[in-house]
Amino acid sequence: MSAAPSTAMQHGLQNCGACGLLSLPAPGVEKGHCPRCAEPVAFRKRDSIQRTWAFVIAAAICYIPANVLPVLTTTTATGTDSDTILQGVILLWSPTGWPLSLIVLIASIIIPSAKIAVMAYLLVTVQRGSIRNNEQRIRLFRTVEFIGRWSMVDVFVDTFTAALVQLQPLMSVEPGPGLFFFAMVVVLTMLAVESFDPRLIWDAASEQGVHYG
Ligand SMILES: [Zn+2]
Repeated sequence: MSAAPSTAMQHGLQNCGACGLLSLPAPGVEKGHCPRCAEPVAFRKRDSIQRTWAFVIAAAICYIPANVLPVLTTTTATGTDSDTILQGVILLWSPTGWPLSLIVLIASIIIPSAKIAVMAYLLVTVQRGSIRNNEQRIRLFRTVEFIGRWSMVDVFVDTFTAALVQLQPLMSVEPGPGLFFFAMVVVLTMLAVESFDPRLIWDAASEQGVHYG
C-alpha cells in the first residue's frame, strides 16, 4: 500500500484566511497570528457551525414575513392594493408576462428556501460526522456559494418588476414591509455561506482514516 498523502492540519500548519500564508504556530501557542499580515489564524474558521446555524435560523425566521407581508403596494385609480411575492407571481402570470413571473418565482421563493435548506443539511451532516456523499455535499456548497454572488439579482428582479408596473399610467408603487425581510433573507444567507467552513465536510473522513484520490 502506498503512503497516504498528508494534510496541512496533520502537520500542525495553519492557513491564514486573509493572505493565504501557511504557517506553523510556535510550540504551546494555541491561537496564533499570521507572521505576514498579523491576522488571527486557526485550523478552521472559529465557531463556524454555531455562527452558520445562527444565520441560517435567522434567515429561516425572516423568510416567513418576507413571504407573508406585502412586498409591493400599488395604487391605481380604483384603489390601493398590497401584494406579497406569491400574489405578485400570480398577478404577473399571463400569456406574455409568464417569463417574468417565472423569474420572480425562482429568484424570490425557490432559491432562498433552497439555500436555507442546503445550509441546514450541510450543518446537520457535518455535526453528525457523516462521511457519506462528501463530493455531492461540497458540490452543493459550491453551488450555493456561486448563487450567493448573484443573490442581489433577487432584489433587482423585484425592483425591476416594480419599475415595470410603474410604467402603466395612474399607478404608483411603493415597497412594502415584506421587501425589508426579503433583503434580510438575502443578506443572512450570504453571511451563512461566508461563515461555513467547507473543510469541515472532509474532517470526519480524515479522522476516520478515509483517503481520497
Ligand atoms: Zn496572513
